[in-house]
Amino acid sequence: MAYDTNNIFARILRGEIPNKTVLETEHALAFHDINPQAPVHILVIPKGAYVNMVDFGARASATEIQGFYKAVSDVAIMAGVDQTGCRIIANTGLNGGQEVPHFHVHIVGGKQLGRMLGQ
Ligand code: 5GP
Repeated sequence: MAYDTNNIFARILRGEIPNKTVLETEHALAFHDINPQAPVHILVIPKGAYVNMVDFGARASATEIQGFYKAVSDVAIMAGVDQTGCRIIANTGLNGGQEVPHFHVHIVGGKQLGRMLGQ
């Protein structure tokens, strides 16, 4: 799948759309989801142009990968969900229900989330 340079997170990275930033590093940007599903709902995205987690793992450099996942951990700690627990989700592609085609993980927490996939 080709990367769409006009997807909403690409536009956020270019500063064309505002966001509520939680953390910005060389390799990642974390910001509050516009439609939170729980008291904590933060998105973490790499700064590079990757469609989803599979694309990221396949093409990103070791430095980008390390920087991205370090930011995910730092944000979870900053948000206070490292001890209470959270769900870190990467919706991927059509069957995964991914809406925005720029790799992102959701850090969701602040309440008991129940079982995965509503089963
Ligand atoms: P996906 O379904 O692709 O995994 O999740 C995309 C997420 O991006 C959704 O939770 C949605 O609420 C969030 N989102 C979509 N557009 C914007 C936006 O312009 N700003 C922010 N902060 N979040 C957005």
